[in-house]
This record gives sequence, structure tokens and C-alpha cells, in this order.
Amino acid sequence: MAEEKTTVENTPRTNFIREIVDEHLQTNRYGGKVVTRFPPEPNGYLHIGHAKSICLNFGIARDYNGKCNLRFDDTNPTKEEQEYVDSILEDVRWLGFQWDGLYYASDYFEQLYEFALRLIKKGKAFVCDLTADQIREYRGTPTEPGTESPYRNRSVDENLDLFTRMRAGEFLDGARTLRAKIDMTSPNFNMRDPVMYRILRATHHRTGDVWCIYPTYDWAHGQSDSIEGITNSVCTLEFEIHRPLYDWFLDELGIHHPQQTEFARLNLSYTMMSKRRLLQLVEEGLVNSWNDPRMPSISGFRRRGYTPESIRSFADRIGVSKREYIQDVTVLEDCLREDLNARAPRVMAVLRPLKIVIENYPDGQAEELEAVNNPEDTAAGVRKVPFSKVLYIEQDDFREAPPKKYFRLSPGSEVRLRYAYIIKCVGVVKDEKTGEVIELRCTYDPETRSGSAQSSRKVKSTIHWVSATHALNAEVRLYDRLFTVEEPGGEDWKQLINPHSLEVVKSCKVEPSLANANVQDRFQFERLGYFCVDDDSKPGALVFNRAVTLRDTWAKIEKK
Ligand code: ATP
Ligand code: MG
Repeated sequence: MAEEKTTVENTPRTNFIREIVDEHLQTNRYGGKVVTRFPPEPNGYLHIGHAKSICLNFGIARDYNGKCNLRFDDTNPTKEEQEYVDSILEDVRWLGFQWDGLYYASDYFEQLYEFALRLIKKGKAFVCDLTADQIREYRGTPTEPGTESPYRNRSVDENLDLFTRMRAGEFLDGARTLRAKIDMTSPNFNMRDPVMYRILRATHHRTGDVWCIYPTYDWAHGQSDSIEGITNSVCTLEFEIHRPLYDWFLDELGIHHPQQTEFARLNLSYTMMSKRRLLQLVEEGLVNSWNDPRMPSISGFRRRGYTPESIRSFADRIGVSKREYIQDVTVLEDCLREDLNARAPRVMAVLRPLKIVIENYPDGQAEELEAVNNPEDTAAGVRKVPFSKVLYIEQDDFREAPPKKYFRLSPGSEVRLRYAYIIKCVGVVKDEKTGEVIELRCTYDPETRSGSAQSSRKVKSTIHWVSATHALNAEVRLYDRLFTVEEPGGEDWKQLINPHSLEVVKSCKVEPSLANANVQDRFQFERLGYFCVDDDSKPGALVFNRAVTLRDTWAKIEKK
């Protein structure tokens, strides 16, 4: 399909973060530079929430002629893996962004160590022998101040000696920490002498066994931002309470000081954004993989048929705010419909085939009818679809006893076959045992061929079809919400998984033009929705995912 043609463009909209950038430019705080970063921890696959952050950070860099780095926040060796690094690189690229610098917080381990020595020499950090449990006990409560560590007043020399030996591996895991010396009475827990380093013998995915002390997030993050010359360090709201510490470290070190600004994370209805729980879904086989098309992961959306353009457009449409809320997933679905409506080729496919025989059509004859590839895009041209005596239509397009206002096929009624003729149902064939209708006998009106001069006769509905001898078999996977409730959560969240989130329809029939469809190609199956060729698809064994229906059927179901 024509990927070059982008239909949903991202019109840069201002928001409170961009206003801060504007202000920096006006006051010349950073000498006219704009540098942002996206800092994922490589402990899982990226999800649609990360996409919001990616679009925000890369979008600012793009629109302000600035730079945006991709930095792996890899300070937690026990949870991080190369597999995740690779998937993150792929996902960011697929979303359409190119990073200026590609960095790893682990690249800065030596520099961070030097910075720590500086704080020790200033009397602003100390080696503490309290255990993790003791540190917690000493920390106090939200209403009561904490208690100072008995090791807090060690001399600079002793601290330097002990910290050097921590690095050298002289002490057991957890035996000592390096802590900032700030204020145990601060109402902000993060300022009560936070831990900067812990001893941990774990093999790091990049630095191997070189280090046995690892920096905490708070110690690594701001200093990494500073080293890279970041001007705007954008993060989610839970870090607002960490900002005083972020600022304290930078001020004490007297190094380049980025502005941290927080925004509300994305929560999407009927799914969840917790990496930990998404990992559980995968590990417990509740979904098939990280890129299962039901997953809210970027790779899941990609496999399902979402376009990068639709996700960028979504990020743009929802904007950024300071208040958390549940974003209705239908907005995302609309972005995809809008994009694919403009550029996905139309084809005909029948999910649940009902055979029809056109009695007055000559045996063995076939003709090629002209079908429009995309009514929204004349440049997409036309193609030929074969028509013959035996066809398949959708079971749902026939009712033996039609309810009122049912204008599709029923005994004695007429419908138009898309791009073809008006047909009339003149008889039904039933299974002798079950009584089920297994075949329709029809006649066609040769005068009504679409596009011909005499084709002006009108009937109330037009249905899609495929020619039985020409059609290809396909498997189609239909998806529904992964969870049954808008805001799945709580301890028993697994009970909220929708047991009908995947329906596999095996004996579908699709038009022959799809023979050469490639993995990731996207189509509109006329009247059915937008579909994408799945990774499992092979020539001769096509597999499609329904990315999204044509309209939001779910909203209608809920209103009932
Ligand atoms: P973890 O629990 O592992 O820290 P995380 O979701 O915070 O998970 P990170 O890899 O630390 O994952 O996130 C990278 C960046 O993406 C961070 O700047 C984070 O604030 C942002 N981010 C994460 N989740 C969301 C979300 N739901 N909406 C918007 N931004 C998000
Ligand atoms: Mg995080």
C-alpha cells in the first residue's frame, strides 16, 4: 500500500510544556537550545502510554528545531534485557522518529561516580550502614519527621574511603549505601537523606560485572539529563514529588540544570499500562506474546494494523494535561479509521460464507468486473474482480424470515452485488438434517451491471461477495476489548479479562487480488472494517487481523 502518503498530519498544538519552552526561548535560559529526551527503562516493551511521551518529546524537538535523545535508563540490572532495548529501538523508529543521540544511563556510571565523590567532598553525601529495613524505619511517617542515621556524621575522609571500597567490592550486597545528606525533617520523603547508591552484584546487560554498586533512579536521572545538555526533562506526574531532589542534586553539583516538567500519564479505557502486569499477561499465557494484537503495546498495535500516523495523530488529539483521567479508546480507533479510510485499498472478503448460485448465469462463464480501489483517492485506481455463477455472500446478509426494515437478501427480494448486478433470491437449499440454509438459488438481471448505461435501477441495499471458484481461503482474527471494564485494576484484575477478546474465523473467502498481500499490508474489507495481514500469514495461507471495525459497534452495544 502507499505508505508514503500521510493523511493525518500532526498540527503542532501548543500546551503547557511548549509554553515553558517558549518562555525559555524568550528569557534565553538555555541560549536558544531545545533538547529533550525519551528515557525508557529497558525492562519491557513500549506501550501506547510511552507513545504519548515519545510524540511529546520528539514532537517538541521537531517543531522547535531542537534535538531529542533516546536514553535507556538502565540502572536496574536485575530487570533489564537486550531484547527490550531492541524492541524499543524498533518501536521508536516505527513511530516515525529518529533520535539525535542514542545513550545509556550506564554510559555515565563513571561520571556519576565522580559526581558522587564531589558530593561526599562537599559533605553532602555519606556512607550509611543501615539496612534497607532500618532505613525505612528511620524515615519517619508523613506526619512525623524521620530520624537521622547514626552514620550521618562520618568524616569526609571516612566516607571517601568507604565509598571507594564499596565500589571495589569489599562489602556484601545491601551492607552499605551512599546517601545524600539533606533533611530528615523535610515534609517530602524524597528529601530525607535519599539513597544514591546500593551494593548489588548483578550482571548488567551492558556493563557486565564491572560494577557492584548501582545508582538509584533519582541519582542517575537528573545527572544524565544534565550530561546530555537536556533543556526540558519531561516526565509523568508521579515524579513531581521528586523534582525538589532533582533540583537539589544539580544545584549542589553546580552543573547544567534542565527544567523538569510533569504531565499526566495516559490511561486508556479497557486496558492497562502497567508494564509489570503486561509482562504477567505474557508470562502467564493470558495473551500470546508482547505483540499480541490485543496488547496495548506499540508492537501489538503495529501487528494489529495500526499505523504510526494514527498513533501520532491520537497523541496530538489528546494533548497533555496536569490531571489524570481515563482516555476513551474510541478516540484512538477513530484516528485509525480516519487514516485508513483515506489510504487503505478496498477489497471484498466474506467472513462467514453462504453459497449462492446464479441460475441464469451461464455455466463455466466468468467475467472481470471493475472495482474502485479507494473512493477517497482516485489515484489508487481500479482493479478487476472476477464474477461467476457460484458466489459467496455473508451469511448475515440473508434472512429467511426478514425482520422489518431488513433490506438485504431474503426469499423473493433483490439486492445489488457490489460492482456487479442486481440479483434476486428465488429459492433456498437446506441441510436435510439441521434445516439450516446452506445455499441460495438466485437469478441476476444482466441489464443492471454496475457502470453500464442501463444500470440505473435502484434497490435498497448493496452487499459484498466473492466468486467461489476464484476466492482464496483466509483465516481472520477478530478482536474485542482485552478487558471487560473501562478501568481494570485491583487485586483480581485477571478476572476482568474479556474471554471473547479473540475470535478466530477460519473459513473466510477473500478476493484473489489478495494473493500477494504482504505482512503488515492494510485493507478495508468492504462493509466489515480495516484488516491487516498478520505476521503468521503465508502465501496460500493468508491470515488477517481486524484492526478496527468501520464504525464503533461497541458504543451501540453499550447503549442497548
Ligand atoms: P516502570 O514502572 O518500569 O518505571 P514506566 O511506565 O514508568 O514503567 P519507563 O520506561 O520508565 O516506564 O518510561 C519511559 C518514559 O515514558 C518515562 O518518561 C515515563 O514517564 C513515560 N511514560 C510511561 N508510562 C506512560 C504513560 N502511561 N503515559 C505517558 N507517558 C508514560
Ligand atoms: Mg519509570
